[in-house]
Parts: sequence; C-alpha cells; structure tokens
Amino acid sequence: AVSDGDWSYFDGEFVRLGEVRLSPAANALNYGTGVFEGIRAYWNPERQELRVLKLREHYERFANSCKLMRIDPGLSVDDLCEVTLEILRRNAPRVDTYIRPLAFKSAESIGVKLSGLKSSLSIFTVPMGNYVELTGLRCCVASWRRIPDNAIPARCKLTGAYINTALAVDDAQKAGFDDAIFLTQEGTVSEASAANIFIVRRGEVVTPPLTADILEGITRDAVMELLEREWGIEVVERDIDRTELYAADEVFLTGTGYQIAPVVEIDHRPVGSGEMGPITGRLQEAYFRAARGDNPDYEHWTVPVETA
Ligand code: PMP
Repeated sequence: AVSDGDWSYFDGEFVRLGEVRLSPAANALNYGTGVFEGIRAYWNPERQELRVLKLREHYERFANSCKLMRIDPGLSVDDLCEVTLEILRRNAPRVDTYIRPLAFKSAESIGVKLSGLKSSLSIFTVPMGNYVELTGLRCCVASWRRIPDNAIPARCKLTGAYINTALAVDDAQKAGFDDAIFLTQEGTVSEASAANIFIVRRGEVVTPPLTADILEGITRDAVMELLEREWGIEVVERDIDRTELYAADEVFLTGTGYQIAPVVEIDHRPVGSGEMGPITGRLQEAYFRAARGDNPDYEHWTVPVETA
C-alpha cells in the first residue's frame, strides 16, 4: 500500500507523501483533467540491485499526454527521469516498486476548460508485486465499449478516461471474471482494462493496431521486440474479430502492471488447451530476465538506481 512516510515529489520539491494536501476544488478532481504514467522498478535479489524499466519511454508518453491536455509538467523528460531516480534513491525499496507520475489541473475554480489553469506535478512510489495472477486469467468481453479516439483518446493516459476502465472491470469482477476485454465502437478487439492484448492463431502472433483505441503500450513494444529478436516472430498488427478470441490457440495481456499475463478462458470458453500456451510461457520468462537486468542483450531497457 501507499505509505505516507515515503519520499515523493510535488510541485518542485521532494516531500513526504503524507504532507501533500489537495483542495476538493482542484479542477482535476472535479473534471478528470489529469494525465499519469505507471512505471516499474524491479528489485534483483541476487544482484541486490534496483533497476527501472523503460523509464525514458514512459516519460516520453507522459509528455505526449501532457501536450494533449495543455499541461506544462514544468520538467523536461530528462529531468523527470532524474527526479524519479532521486525518489527511488531516497526510498531505496528492496522490492518491486511501481512509480506513479501524475500531472493535473490543480487550479481551484469551477468551470470546464483546459487553458489558463494552473497544473501540478506529483510522483510517488508504491511497492508492487504481481498486479494480476500470472498463471492464467479468466476474462469476459466487456459490454462497455472502449472510448474512441475522437471522444476521449485512449492513446494518452488520461485520469478521466479510466472511468471507462472502472466500469468494465467492476462488471467483470462482479460476474466472477478476473478482467474485461474491450471492443472498439466498430466491434473489433481493442485491449484489456489496463493491458494490451495479443493472440496466437494459425502460427501467427497478432495484436490490434495502434488505431484500435488502445494505449500505445510500452510493454506491447517490448514484447514485439522480444518476439522478433529471440524467435524471429514478426507480430502482425491487424483488426481482430471478437470470435477470434475464442478460436485463438493462446491469448496474453501485456502491461507494466500485468507484465505478461496469459488468458486461459474468455466468456467461459477455454483458450486453446485452457492453460498457459508455449509462446506465452517462453515470452514471460524472457521478459522477466530482461526486466530484472539478467540479460545483457537488453541492458538498455533498464536504468540502475544507485542506492547507498
Ligand atoms: N492499456 C491500458 C488502458 C493501460 O492502462 C495500460 C497500462 N499502462 C496498458 C494498456 C499497457 O501499457 P504499458 O505496457 O505501457 O504499461
């Protein structure tokens, strides 16, 4: 859980998280006008070393989200990376840790707009093991559709957009599933609640294109690189029909929180054998090796945190 005594960053200063105060009049709290990221640092117990995965990539996406929302985060991508490393140096966690940067309209005024409003930047950390079960998720197709790009762009990580996620996840979990898979307004497969989706079918690994109202997942890119580099598998980006989910040999979800999570059942139909498939298994192993800094070929994916 989040701890009040941990170091965080708020509006230009390193502060204990419990010291930050927010007004109920903050624009973002009322209208969802914020952007955020989710970054992971992996603790390597053998090497007694903490490394942050794809740090710069996350802040580049953050900068893009800020641009859409007309938020000036006040720091360059390089400075955001440095501030994050400093928080981790101060907290010095010896477990896998999630990092949550958040930039939001903190102006205390009533009225919906984007321009001319003060914004704030906070970054905090929280211990995070496996966010979801890594042996097999049971999913349903959500009755809620994914938010389209010309309404609320899923490409950017916007706080308000996660209402869409919350509605779908809550329904799924109340019905006994682990997670929901969204369809686009057009009815093709988009993504899971907070993860991108891949299917293995007819010897191909397929994922919805960047135009399927998905978040441009950093783990999605990482997985595509791993598949190509380790096994010469070129991922096909194309629209996926709902019923291809049922016909697939393997389905897996990718994300900073989810990591590589196999889906073993969709709408009460087993996926393939009903257990984690071979490609998903190999990928999961390769991903963790790279993320924990155990594979020199992927050292550039991670940045070490120099703790005393
Ligand atoms: N889609 C959504 C909606 C998400 O919230 C996330 C988690 N950030 C992802 C996909 C996966 O993105 P990433 O691999 O960059 O964490």
